[in-house]
Amino acid sequence: MITQEDIRTFDVDQIRKEFPTLAREVYGKPLIYFDNGATSQKPQVVINAIEHYYTFDNSNIHRGVHHLSQEATAQYENARETIQRYLNAPLSEQVLFTTGTTGGINLVASSFGEMLTEGDEIIISAMEHHSNIVPWQMLCERKKCKLNIIPINEAGELIISEFDKMLNERTRLISVTHISNTLGTINPIKYMIDEGHKVGAKILIDGAQSVQHMPVDVQDLDCDFYVFSGHKVFGPTGVGVLYGKKDILDSMPPYQGGGDMIDKVTFEKTTYNVLPHKFEAGTPNISGGIALGTAIKYLAEQDLVAIQKYEHELVVYATEELSKIEGMRFIGTAKEKTSVISFMVSDLHPFDIGTLLDKQGIAVRTGHHCTQPLMDFFNIPGTVRASFAFYNTKEEIDFFIKALNRSINMLR
Ligand SMILES: *Cc1c(COP(=O)(O)O)cnc(C)c1O
Repeated sequence: MITQEDIRTFDVDQIRKEFPTLAREVYGKPLIYFDNGATSQKPQVVINAIEHYYTFDNSNIHRGVHHLSQEATAQYENARETIQRYLNAPLSEQVLFTTGTTGGINLVASSFGEMLTEGDEIIISAMEHHSNIVPWQMLCERKKCKLNIIPINEAGELIISEFDKMLNERTRLISVTHISNTLGTINPIKYMIDEGHKVGAKILIDGAQSVQHMPVDVQDLDCDFYVFSGHKVFGPTGVGVLYGKKDILDSMPPYQGGGDMIDKVTFEKTTYNVLPHKFEAGTPNISGGIALGTAIKYLAEQDLVAIQKYEHELVVYATEELSKIEGMRFIGTAKEKTSVISFMVSDLHPFDIGTLLDKQGIAVRTGHHCTQPLMDFFNIPGTVRASFAFYNTKEEIDFFIKALNRSINMLR
């Protein structure tokens, strides 16, 4: 358990020392890592957790009578409980390990989706990541359901009056991102959850960009599902979390069949295991789950209020400095926004800017950021995206602005 006394005073220099990748160079230049929206770097404690598992505790979980298996099982289940507490989920069995955000959404689309019938409606938004679009398109095709898309305005905010109009008694599921990975927009999910519930719909929140930036309390939100990826919250790739309300998860059919998810198998009839095992077929990513628990514990020990404030300062400062550049066009200027800045400079291609920044040691994302419909809305091929984490600094932003100016001069 983490108590108030365990919360560390935010100290960016100390934190940077805990992320070994941040100390490296690329092309002989110090690395400036501004691609946190795609994946975060890992603190040493997370790297150690993976190494420790394979060095000392490696064995399969949930089935073994032997010591190693019991130790590995205990660590894996401890990680689940750490995540449960962090999300304030009522029970640890409501925290399902998945392969990531994509895995969690596909699980819900497949299993919850099985209970939908022709003419049922699903709502998503125009700013969703492909992984929160395509599974619903596939489901709608399979079940002959209707997919409604909440439009956005030029600032990259949801047009909530349009969402209100879409809600009706056929609305079964609303699946929206908490924070846009491309625009940084923070969506009014609390309102959407409450309004959705009024018509009896269930709500899935794509939390891939939020858990690492703000406290998330699934009971306070009252969402029905919440998904995120380990690798964006300072944990490993290939593991993630699906939180779900217990009665809904209990009512859903299994997703994948295999070992661990069964109660009893005969060729006549197979019965299924209880939560969480019902949705965790086969040997999972054991080291990944354990290390994700370590990452969440690391995050829980941070002063999240101070971090939010710090990241806000970074984004305000970077936006100010970027505004001074001629031809600067920001994509995503929502009032409520996290530390993501997407931009274009005149008609320079984002890829060219990204390539020149890379040569100066700066990692940014360029392209459509898995949100092609959003690029079509803004009528652009892509953006340059700088996305910050709590280990980034103003000095890095200064360096980035200089490097960007140099790149633009080369391209103009
Ligand atoms: C990264 C991301 C995803 C997909 O996450 P994976 O880790 O690739 O499964 C989905 N939604 C948002 C908002 C994201 O940022």
